[in-house]
Amino acid sequence: MPSHQPTAGMMAVDPLKLSSQPPATASPQEPNRNPKYDPKKSHITETPLTRKNWYKHVNWLNAILIVGIPISGCIAALWTPLRWQTLVFAIAYYFATGFGITGGYHRLWAHSSYSASTPLKIFLAAVGGGAVEGSIRWWARDHRAHHRYTDTDKDPYSVRKGLLYSHFGWMIMKQNPKRIGRTDISDLNDDWVVVWQHKHYLKVVLFMGLIFPSIVCGLAWDDWLGGFIYGGILRIFFVQQATFCVNSLAHWLGDQPFDDRNSPRDHVITALVTLGEGYHNFHHEFPSDYRNAIEWHQYDPTKWTIWLCKQVGLAYDLKQFRSNEIEKGRLQQMQKKLDQKRGKLDWGVPLEQLPVMEWDDYVDQAQNGRALVAVAGVVHDVTDFVADHPGGKAMIRSGIGKDATAMFNGGVYNHSNAAHNLLSTMRVGVIRGGMEVEIWKRAHNENKDTMVVKDKDGNRIVRAGAQVTKVFDPPASAGAA
Ligand SMILES: [Zn+2]
Ligand SMILES: [Zn+2]
Repeated sequence: MPSHQPTAGMMAVDPLKLSSQPPATASPQEPNRNPKYDPKKSHITETPLTRKNWYKHVNWLNAILIVGIPISGCIAALWTPLRWQTLVFAIAYYFATGFGITGGYHRLWAHSSYSASTPLKIFLAAVGGGAVEGSIRWWARDHRAHHRYTDTDKDPYSVRKGLLYSHFGWMIMKQNPKRIGRTDISDLNDDWVVVWQHKHYLKVVLFMGLIFPSIVCGLAWDDWLGGFIYGGILRIFFVQQATFCVNSLAHWLGDQPFDDRNSPRDHVITALVTLGEGYHNFHHEFPSDYRNAIEWHQYDPTKWTIWLCKQVGLAYDLKQFRSNEIEKGRLQQMQKKLDQKRGKLDWGVPLEQLPVMEWDDYVDQAQNGRALVAVAGVVHDVTDFVADHPGGKAMIRSGIGKDATAMFNGGVYNHSNAAHNLLSTMRVGVIRGGMEVEIWKRAHNENKDTMVVKDKDGNRIVRAGAQVTKVFDPPASAGAA
């Protein structure tokens, strides 16, 4: 029954390739290509979707599995009484099969974020199969492409194509296998549990997805049909929808504390829905970390379960990024946000762009009605500010046409950081070296401890108290005022 169409669908598994090619010699770059697939023939996805051909674009097998069967299950449930034992079992089995996807398919096989003992692997391959989301091999291959080519056309479930597309549209509509980015799955081809599950996928799905829940509820409390409908069909539906949210909701809702260049986001709601896979911005930055949530109070039952498995000897080698690396990423993102904020503020004309004035010219202009004040070699036009000067008009006027460096920096009043910031917005020129101001310019330039820090756009970052007009301990000889 697996589709032999070259579609990237959850049932588009390819057992033939595995049997014809020993896993050890499988080329790492070899995609999961179907032998019946002819790359020369144009694929249906290359034909625009029209009223006449739309049904050819639909992957009917997947549409039935993801939409058709759940709907029929809902209808059947109307005539099937729900026993409480069956409900409890269905919920427990929901978590087990969900963990098969999050802890098994995703964190163990797609990302190798920890190692599992053989019994745990078999358990995860079985319950993961019961979630009916394709074989481990197929799922992990696509997921690695999703990480490698996030948000691009090679991403099998790029959210850039729409929220519904990333949720399940990519499975319901046929995909061109040539489009999906290539990934290395040689390690999975070497894992006999993965290979076995891939080869016998259909049996695994039927047994773990439908037969097993029916048997449990049938033998234990004689509810065969309830087990089938609630423990099987409807439970599959909920697990599928929940885990599909990792591809849709987790790329759409929430914050981006580590990197905002791509779509992955962190949100507690996604975490609650997906058994802890909701800290997806972190996950895309640190994919081989066995955790998705790094804070103790964040909801990540998948992480907790892996940790418990380690305590009882079923899992080992749990990978964790050093918090130093994590904090670096977080800080850089914060820095980026700060830079964006800083870029929106007026810091005054950069010094290198200001016209150069001769000292005499400065004095001349100041004496002829322009309220110019030189502080640390920088000329400021305070005409519009004289009336608003908190220290009074007379005080500010006394600095006009003079070198007011010392006055401004403690000679008369040691101006605040905010005052230096405000002053910088009034800059109109710099004094050519010479006369009094040169002393300050040189003192400032020669201050080797003052590092000029620029943001990524090359704009100077002016820290509090590090404005060019701020001069500590100005020599008395320049107190020209
Ligand atoms: Zn993702
Ligand atoms: Zn992932």
